Amino acid sequence: MKKTLLLWLLLLGFMGCAGPDFDLIIEGGTVIDGSGKDRFIADVGVKNGVIAEIGDLSEKSATERVDATGLVVAPGFIDIHSHATSGSFGDSDIAQRPDAESYVRQGVTTAMGGQDGSSTLDIGAFLDSLEVHPSAINIGLFIGHGSIRATVAGEDNLPVTAEQMSEMIQLVETAMFDGAFGLSSGLEYTPGAFADTAELVELAKPVAAKNGLYISHIRDEGGRLLESVGEVIEVGRGSDARVQITHHKLIGKSRWGGAAASLALLDEAGAEGIDAASDQYPYTASSTGLTILFPNWSKDGGFEALVQRLNDPETRQQIRSEVIEHINIERGADPATIVAARCDFDASFNGKSLADILADRSLPVTVEGAADVAIELVSAGSCSGVFHSMSPDDVETIMLHARTGISSDGGIPAMNEGVPHPRNYGAFARVLAYYVREKGVLTLEQAIYKMTSLPAKQLNLKDRGKLSAGMVADITLFDPSTIQDQAKFGDPHHYATGVHSVWVSGISVLKSNVMVGNRPGKGLKHAKN
Ligand SMILES: [Zn+2]
Repeated sequence: MKKTLLLWLLLLGFMGCAGPDFDLIIEGGTVIDGSGKDRFIADVGVKNGVIAEIGDLSEKSATERVDATGLVVAPGFIDIHSHATSGSFGDSDIAQRPDAESYVRQGVTTAMGGQDGSSTLDIGAFLDSLEVHPSAINIGLFIGHGSIRATVAGEDNLPVTAEQMSEMIQLVETAMFDGAFGLSSGLEYTPGAFADTAELVELAKPVAAKNGLYISHIRDEGGRLLESVGEVIEVGRGSDARVQITHHKLIGKSRWGGAAASLALLDEAGAEGIDAASDQYPYTASSTGLTILFPNWSKDGGFEALVQRLNDPETRQQIRSEVIEHINIERGADPATIVAARCDFDASFNGKSLADILADRSLPVTVEGAADVAIELVSAGSCSGVFHSMSPDDVETIMLHARTGISSDGGIPAMNEGVPHPRNYGAFARVLAYYVREKGVLTLEQAIYKMTSLPAKQLNLKDRGKLSAGMVADITLFDPSTIQDQAKFGDPHHYATGVHSVWVSGISVLKSNVMVGNRPGKGLKHAKN
């Protein structure tokens, strides 16, 4: 009897030495759990990288306690459209800047790359390389339709053969097996633009088979917006995949006010049982290569082929007249709305609009002159642009829709290089500062839902995007009264402020406004069902 008692005492003593109840308790914060439900005051206990308990933990012990009084405790934000992985692994933003400070300071803990139809074809190798060279945030990938098509069928405007089609399907299947979250398309870019809807339906079928997502930069965000949204819904109908209109927007001043019709298509699709959603970055300007001003036929065969066509006087005239037409219709006939963001061949263009460049040369600011400058810049090499072409009302209309999440469409820019779109530094913070605090378009609960649970659901990402027991401890702690995007058009290289602390898998990456230097981010693999 005595012996048993002694054993029990020893066991109890041993348990007492097993350490504190939690690794971390975030105390007394306002918990907004990502589900969209109302906020509540509670402590959040983290153990072994997982949220262990939410409630009154004042009696519990912890290795570290963080006072969150007056701050919001939310799930780490998920950027469902990121360019952090653009380029091959060695060149990508996340490889070059693995601390991902522009993201961390916005509270983003997961970025989804491989967007707009462009990705590495070897998803498995990219994810493996993240284990060797980890980053501060989690990275997941889509397989890009345009990259697959370029590899299998080249960059020409041709339908794919049956043989090429089966090769492309095989590449999607392999990517899904290796952990891709789905298929991305960029149908406004070549060679993605050369695909018909049937090709996309076939390629989305292996995505649907693994419960993945088809995410599309649609064919036309201006005059043919509704047809283009309809095509994505058609891919959902034909393949049974969940589908997403990424960076949902309406371009072209003459069409402003038309966003509601596009959202209505998503509602109709939903009523039909097609799981269709969208995401959005909170700005009235877009950003992409200046070649977006050029007709697709001129880009058939790739960049060299475009330059060759420009060298032929007659073809050049035809291209020029279509660029003029594009600027007239899509860009409100205003050369000031088209701004060079980064021209690798000559940094002096960076930050200047086509109107500025014409004025610098003492030339009249006309659409024709702007087309000539655009042709000159594109011929000279790689040049990205910022395009001011959306209406603030349409941005709000799209944001308010229940099926619209928040994304950045940005990457992790090199500080002070070029004049990139401010979304790279501020998209998430801007929603919380401008659209929640200043304008009251969204409640904090709605905004956080759109940054966490909604994208997690679209991604079939089951262990992130919500603050509840058992979820991975990706956590953002921010001050709702001060959070602010600091990046501006023309002056973008400023980190967002007001995010207090960030944890990824329970490991601190930002602590009381200071970057810690830890890199606990994971290469995320899509669940195999
Ligand atoms: Zn895009």
